[in-house]
Amino acid sequence: MMAPKLERFVSPGKGNGLRTTARIKRGELLFSEEPLACCVSSKVSRAVCHRCFTRPSAGLPCTRPSLHTTSDSETEGEGGQEKKGVVWEKHETLLRCSQCKMARYCGINCQKQAWPDHKRECKCLQSLLPRIPTDSVRLAARLIFSLLSPSKGSSEELYTLEEHESHLSSMSEQKKQGLLQLASMLELYLQQEAPNLAQEIPSLPPSCRDPLSLIAKVTCNCFTISDGELQEIGVGLYPSLSLLNHDCRPNCVMVFEGAKLQLRAIRDINPEEELSISYIETLSLTEDRQRQLEDQYHFTCHCQRCDSKDKEELMLIGEEATWQKLKEALPRLEGLKAESDWKTLLDSCSHLLSTVCGDVPDENLYKLRMTDMALDASIHLGHWEEALTYGERTLSVYRQYYPDPHPVHGVQLMRVGKLQHYLEHIEDALDTFKQAYQIMKITHGEDHPLTTDLLMKMEECHCEMGQRSSSSH
Ligand SMILES: [Zn+2]
Ligand SMILES: [Zn+2]
Ligand SMILES: [Zn+2]
Repeated sequence: MMAPKLERFVSPGKGNGLRTTARIKRGELLFSEEPLACCVSSKVSRAVCHRCFTRPSAGLPCTRPSLHTTSDSETEGEGGQEKKGVVWEKHETLLRCSQCKMARYCGINCQKQAWPDHKRECKCLQSLLPRIPTDSVRLAARLIFSLLSPSKGSSEELYTLEEHESHLSSMSEQKKQGLLQLASMLELYLQQEAPNLAQEIPSLPPSCRDPLSLIAKVTCNCFTISDGELQEIGVGLYPSLSLLNHDCRPNCVMVFEGAKLQLRAIRDINPEEELSISYIETLSLTEDRQRQLEDQYHFTCHCQRCDSKDKEELMLIGEEATWQKLKEALPRLEGLKAESDWKTLLDSCSHLLSTVCGDVPDENLYKLRMTDMALDASIHLGHWEEALTYGERTLSVYRQYYPDPHPVHGVQLMRVGKLQHYLEHIEDALDTFKQAYQIMKITHGEDHPLTTDLLMKMEECHCEMGQRSSSSH
């Protein structure tokens, strides 16, 4: 539900916007909403529950091996193998829908609860097997299915589907062609359940009745749903929040709990001040951010950070001829990461990083990206000491690039803290967890499962430090 503090207004130069009517303190929850429609991303569809969006067997080396078996008994279903030590394996612990063979659930409860929503989708999925439609096609179809089922009303929105931008008129021909393909895929996919959008769904606004404008609206207005580690797990539609405009240094952040979206203030906000979020990764060069915003969202950003080219010099610090080598290597490394070729990725990163070390400070953007990839790869390979070295190197850099509390910064601290804890650097771990907590109580709130998890880790550190000092006497 919409909090009474929010109102829609016309933002000068930006069109629709969202602002507050009251004074907001940082950390305050401004909005919390379940999606009008959502679906799990194809690339993680085997690992994430399609109902509650949890991922039972993912995570970092959360705890010591000896402490780790607790959550395993909660997951039912196929392939419950024996686990040794720290959990990283991606084995299947989810129940699979026996008909479409695509939908997965963390347990029988989720499977049952999902059925009313999944029923029509299941038939459509079966009709196209072995092909699986793209995320935006499945999301558009889910929207149609939810409008077909009378139980759901979406009348309370500040911003209706009808009003959503499709940007079709300003779109490049190439992009329009891409959307046309998606639209015909959508028609094919819906054949079984809703062959004629206009006739069958009276509640569908007129401007959404042709598949092309529907898919255009969905792709322009959907939000990426991410898990606690900020990995993409799905896409969803949250109509009122489509009113939020972008800023490269926003005053709000969005965080998810399952598929439920929560909007929180990360700075104090005055009445009538516009609320903003960042549509993209903020840690990148002005030119790159602007290009991405133009390509994906069809506008040119004129925010303060763009105008002042904030932190630009710091991002490009160091010997240019040297960091160019890192920059040029990144696309290939991204490819290795996408293929989960962790061994080759780590070898390449550590080789490149060792050749440039003196000439390029850690603050350099390309060096930072590479260090982060090395961290990811070492975690996947279980090289904990190496991971910790890379992780610790990034922390002072993150602090400089994230002046406001930001989930990316909080999660990075938490990852490093877990490594320190695992490697029994307990004092360091506690210190890192405390820093993470200062950020996450604002970005995630005190009640978010990730914050609760963090508080538990801090408690564990306290206990272990206590045990240590008592056994040394
Ligand atoms: Zn579930
Ligand atoms: Zn199914
Ligand atoms: Zn900007």
